Amino acid sequence: MSIKYEVRSNEKLGRYLVAAKDLKAGERILSDQPFVLGPNSDTSLVCFNCYLPLISKFLVCKNCAVAPVCPGDGCPEQFQKWHTQQECEFFRNLKLNKGINPMTMVQNVGSLLVLRAILKRDFNHQEWKVFMELETHLDRRRGSNVWEYYDNTVKFIQSLGILDNGQNKDLVQKICAAIDVNSFEVRGPPIPAIECAEILRGVYLQAALLAHDCVANTHISINDRNVLVCHASTDIKKGDIIYHNYTDALKGTTIRQQHLMIGKYFICTCSRCSDVTEMGTYMSSAICSKCKTGYVSKKADVWECNSCGKETEKTDIEHKIKCCSEKFEVINKKDEKDLEEYIKNVSLVLAPNHYLLLDAKQRLAGVLRDIINREPRPTKKVMRRKIDLCKEILPVLEVLSPGICRTKAITLYELHATMVQLSKKMFDGREISASAYVDELLNAEKYLKRSLEMLVIEPGNSPEGELCAKALEEYRALKLSMAKVMDAIHAQGKSYQSENVTEVSLHPEVD
Ligand SMILES: [Zn+2]
Ligand SMILES: [Zn+2]
Ligand SMILES: [Zn+2]
Ligand SMILES: [Zn+2]
Repeated sequence: MSIKYEVRSNEKLGRYLVAAKDLKAGERILSDQPFVLGPNSDTSLVCFNCYLPLISKFLVCKNCAVAPVCPGDGCPEQFQKWHTQQECEFFRNLKLNKGINPMTMVQNVGSLLVLRAILKRDFNHQEWKVFMELETHLDRRRGSNVWEYYDNTVKFIQSLGILDNGQNKDLVQKICAAIDVNSFEVRGPPIPAIECAEILRGVYLQAALLAHDCVANTHISINDRNVLVCHASTDIKKGDIIYHNYTDALKGTTIRQQHLMIGKYFICTCSRCSDVTEMGTYMSSAICSKCKTGYVSKKADVWECNSCGKETEKTDIEHKIKCCSEKFEVINKKDEKDLEEYIKNVSLVLAPNHYLLLDAKQRLAGVLRDIINREPRPTKKVMRRKIDLCKEILPVLEVLSPGICRTKAITLYELHATMVQLSKKMFDGREISASAYVDELLNAEKYLKRSLEMLVIEPGNSPEGELCAKALEEYRALKLSMAKVMDAIHAQGKSYQSENVTEVSLHPEVD
């Protein structure tokens, strides 16, 4: 593989990556093994070998007699194993020399990741050196709550007597900070029978250097062997900075900035953050109470309408948004009626693409998907509503996450699926002609193809990878359905004529 990126550094970003050549959307930029991977600091007990949760009982590793591991038949074979021979020997020595017992480890499972990072110092010095050079913002953490929070970890590591003389407790704090600031969320092994997984944290030494922008140009996935793969999500020109978005693209600027400040210690000044309209989406704006058509957005200390120019008191508008936000907290987000009611009411107050409305719409689309899949004869109304919701969400995603985006791929898939179901129902009920049916299937095919283009880069065993396999099956079935309808048209001595009057755009503009 030719060199795709170079490491640069400057005052503002520290070290960061730039494209060493022109990169095409979908092109792999880097793939990275975890330097360390493990449970969160507030985790409950997990197996030290495979990270499955240990709920009621556990065994202790036969060799070291310290590490808690899966009971019964042991760790499932297919999962990656993390209790290495080196660690096992290390625990054995601790048991002999320090009297460490399994309960010590059970009580300190939240410090396991830090301990494993320290062990790298002895066994992989080169990587350890790189790890120690990662951004930590140690001075900003010193004396803060988070510093205090990790005091237990510091004490635990000190009690093991593995720090060299002269190494003070700051080393442990520094490791905690390097993990907090640089780690990626990683899905743990799927827990049998409940299909969910522990959320782990992994530090990836190359990917840790990706700079942040709220509109990223990369797509990151982590496969079931915990390898992180970073693809270009849009075309990237040689010399351009390679960006990853550390926050949720579907949250408003204030929330994203809070998240970045708390977790990463910086104020983002990207083009989206410095634009009160959030790239024309008005994602944090409200409807103007004076002209009723414009949107008021926060400009420094006032809220100003983009249409009539009226300034609204900060307290008034922020109170309104807070109410909408609190209301969203308490409604039943799995209930169709609750969500519809919420969307109806909040649409009178907030701009149509406000992040609270988008969140409600996404959830409602999910609830409707479940209804459609569950009911033997779902109504056309439900299907139409779901199609509308997908079409409302997609243009916003197109602006905020241009190119390849996981949420977009899933939304496009969902849109296609319901379009196919609805048009089949209408064709079977003789409500639309064969040609109109073909038109609908062709439209659905466009969405499905676009979804597939994004899903193909997802790792095979991830939920998205599984969706990709399903989508491919459905693509074949769709082609077959179209051929059958075409045959039927021809058998009647007719020919297919598009009745498509409202051509569906794949890239609709945001209002
Ligand atoms: Zn296990
Ligand atoms: Zn062991
Ligand atoms: Zn930003
Ligand atoms: Zn106005």
